[in-house]
Amino acid sequence: AGTRRTKLIEGIDNRVPVASEAFDSAENLTELYDSDTYGLNAMRETLPSHCYKKIREVISTGQPLDPAIADMVANGMKEWAIKRGATHYTHWFQPLNGLVAEKHDAFVSIFPGDDRLLLEFSGMQLIKGEPDASSFPNGGIRSTWEARGYTVWDATSPAFIRKDQNGSTLCIPTAFCSWTGEALDQKTPLLRSMERVSEESLAVLSSIFKENYKRISPTLGIEQEFFLIDRSFYLSRPDLITCGRTLIGAKPPKGQEMEDHYFGTMNSRIVACIQDVEWQMWKLGMPLKTRHNEVAPGQYEVAPIFERANVASDHNMLLMDVLKSTATRHGLICLLHEKPFDYVNGSGKHNNYSLSTDTGVNLLEPGSTPAQNARFILFLTAIIRAVDIHADLLRASVANPGNEHRLGANEAPPAIISIYLGQELDRVVNDIVHSTETEANGDCNGEKMSLGVGAFPPLPKDSTDRNRTSPFAFTGNKFEFRAVGSSQVVAFPCIILNTIVAESLQYIRKEIEREKTNNVAANTAFNNVIKRVLSLHQRVIFNGDGYGQEWRDIAAKRGLANMRTTPEALATLNSEKNIKLFESFNILSPIELQSRQHILYEIYVKSITIEAKSMYDMVSTLVLPAAFKHQKNVADSLNAIMPFVQGQKNLPQPTAQIAVLTDLVTAINSLSDLNVKLLAAVKATKSAANEKDHAFMLSTSVIPAMREVRRVSDHLETIIDDTIWPLPKYSEILFLR
Ligand code: ADP
Ligand code: MG
Repeated sequence: AGTRRTKLIEGIDNRVPVASEAFDSAENLTELYDSDTYGLNAMRETLPSHCYKKIREVISTGQPLDPAIADMVANGMKEWAIKRGATHYTHWFQPLNGLVAEKHDAFVSIFPGDDRLLLEFSGMQLIKGEPDASSFPNGGIRSTWEARGYTVWDATSPAFIRKDQNGSTLCIPTAFCSWTGEALDQKTPLLRSMERVSEESLAVLSSIFKENYKRISPTLGIEQEFFLIDRSFYLSRPDLITCGRTLIGAKPPKGQEMEDHYFGTMNSRIVACIQDVEWQMWKLGMPLKTRHNEVAPGQYEVAPIFERANVASDHNMLLMDVLKSTATRHGLICLLHEKPFDYVNGSGKHNNYSLSTDTGVNLLEPGSTPAQNARFILFLTAIIRAVDIHADLLRASVANPGNEHRLGANEAPPAIISIYLGQELDRVVNDIVHSTETEANGDCNGEKMSLGVGAFPPLPKDSTDRNRTSPFAFTGNKFEFRAVGSSQVVAFPCIILNTIVAESLQYIRKEIEREKTNNVAANTAFNNVIKRVLSLHQRVIFNGDGYGQEWRDIAAKRGLANMRTTPEALATLNSEKNIKLFESFNILSPIELQSRQHILYEIYVKSITIEAKSMYDMVSTLVLPAAFKHQKNVADSLNAIMPFVQGQKNLPQPTAQIAVLTDLVTAINSLSDLNVKLLAAVKATKSAANEKDHAFMLSTSVIPAMREVRRVSDHLETIIDDTIWPLPKYSEILFLR
């Protein structure tokens, strides 16, 4: 008779790839792409042309929507959605709990004085919703008696259809605010920050370069990493069910050291699942492009072509949802947690970031003319300055309980925020910083332009020397923020990026303008400022190996912070500098900022507390009972042979069994003791005066206590009879599918 575990494994042996409902033939892809969204194509087909032109204008410029137009758009959208089987619509928003929220309303309405059912959807219903907000995190912003919140349509992100087995729902991307106007979501400040970075970029471009555009948009290309494991393993692991990660689990004999998974041939069940996801996302208008095996066994990545930041962010939220639901349909589970398994790599979400003009010019593309180069150098300088001054914010923007296991461990970028430029660009920066030259050598709008280098080098078009250890790397024509966690809502890091870049652009523009008023020629003013700013902030550039002690020592000498834990990183959010920054750029009011910080502490406190309690339960109800059983078996076996051994002088003593028993008894005592201490440590944190103290107490007392429990539990896993061990092991979860 097999154990529960062996039966599980036999079950997996019989699984076959599941057919995808969304799957279609390649020939139909261009036709089907975007077919589940009410984007420009659908609008063109369903709206009167004057209305279509207006809404297109709203989308491309971000202007407010005229209510008369809203009614027409709502009607067009409803007709379109009903044709696709939708009975309901929902305002789809992103409250601060890291998830998406939806409340469905049917299109039905009853004609007054008549029993006739009508299908209706008005402009008002499209533009504004009023969900009860009392159960969403608000970080102390609202009292319960003013619990109402409202959602407002973000016309720049298209509405879409979510299909379910028994029907479809029209989802309308919205922002979510309190009745008193404070942002209760991720999207509102994201949209605000996009406006600010656009305004500041436009100001720089017109003031310094005499270039005029309508709008500048931050662009985001988000590489999503995740694990796919068989669902039956998941169902047998209370830690995966409750925490999304394994809390215990011994190091398997084989992990990722053979380097045989990365870019390897994909397993057929996995391909079926990912293809299913791709087709759904393509129909939803997300341009997924890349899929491959990642470094850890069981780990995968998908990446789209970049899009405007708010659309990319919405699409990533949708992708995470679709990944989870689709995996389940394929008998798999998608783990988005940053560190589901020790001993193998965790998952991140690289945020590729740049700024683009409305005409499609990438402002981080090194130019081919001196003027374009000057523009590139200015934006580059602004970002270098932003990252140096606001490294604390970037670190805070990726601080969550899961990511703490990645940052600073030797697999993900270190917790020290630095910039990788690559050798060539680094040389350019060095040349500027060390130049003494004032001779003009370039041309910018008729004016002589010098960047302080004798012969301005052609800038590298594509940097090939990629450095995987840097948290913030220049990769040819964009920056890649690699510290973002796989489960994170990217809006927050993107808000931070937009805000700090906007601030830096404004600073540099004003400095140049100030120099110019002192009768300094434009090119000299430009050179002086760029040189000064780069000299001040060059310390944040690091092109070496980000892993290991050496960089930590160098970084400390340079005065760069190394915040290893989440509470430390979150504590920086409400510094005077940061409150002022968010307020002066109208991104977050002091109250909004504080509420966010509060919620992030709260999430940390809840997650770590739940993890600690789950660990305690698993050890008490699974690990220790298994250890007792094994202990009894060894003791019984010893008992059985003792009479022979004692009677016969020439028989060897059963020293091996005695050693195992000694090891077992010692480990059991120790584990039981440590487990009790863990629970006591959790209870002790309840005395914390506030969320912040609570978070710090968990970080300094409970997390180390969990580490201790795990060490002994994992040791027991390696000595207990395999047929008694109750939990699927790493070697099974990571390799069988
Ligand atoms: P790698 O894994 O080598 O970093 P990928 O090709 O997997 O590279 O991912 C690169 C990502 O960067 C893609 O999502 C791509 O669309 C995105 N990207 C490229 N150019 C830009 C840009 N200008 N702005 C934002 N993202 C960009
Ligand atoms: Mg990458």
